Amino acid sequence: MADCLFCSIVAGDIPADIVLSNDDVVAFRDIAPQAPVHVLVVPRDHHANVGELASDAPATTATLLQAAQEVAANEGVGDAYRVVFNTGAGAGQTVFHVHAHVIGGRNLEWPPG
Ligand code: AMP
Repeated sequence: MADCLFCSIVAGDIPADIVLSNDDVVAFRDIAPQAPVHVLVVPRDHHANVGELASDAPATTATLLQAAQEVAANEGVGDAYRVVFNTGAGAGQTVFHVHAHVIGGRNLEWPPG
């Protein structure tokens, strides 16, 4: 999709620190990490948010969650990490290409802010 930051990263037009890539998803380090491990996992195809992804491409949704687990394990936090999908501007979503935040490596408070 034109003017989509994460489509541009997936296409290789904007550089990113990619930690995992397969036919369906790409994972790269967040540019402003909120924890020692902070990786974003995105589908290659454009979907605005996780609800749309789940409705439009359930198999890719599962692949994305499997990739999140793989990233967490590879980063050494497979036993304690958080997967976050901010959905909607009111919930903090700023990039409207669905992405799972994989966060770990520090104590994670509950409830989240
Ligand atoms: P959200 O606010 O949930 O939409 O998350 C968007 C995330 O994208 C934020 O955590 C940003 O720090 C991150 N981000 C923005 N631009 C880039 C970039 N060029 N490379 C990696 N992460 C980015």
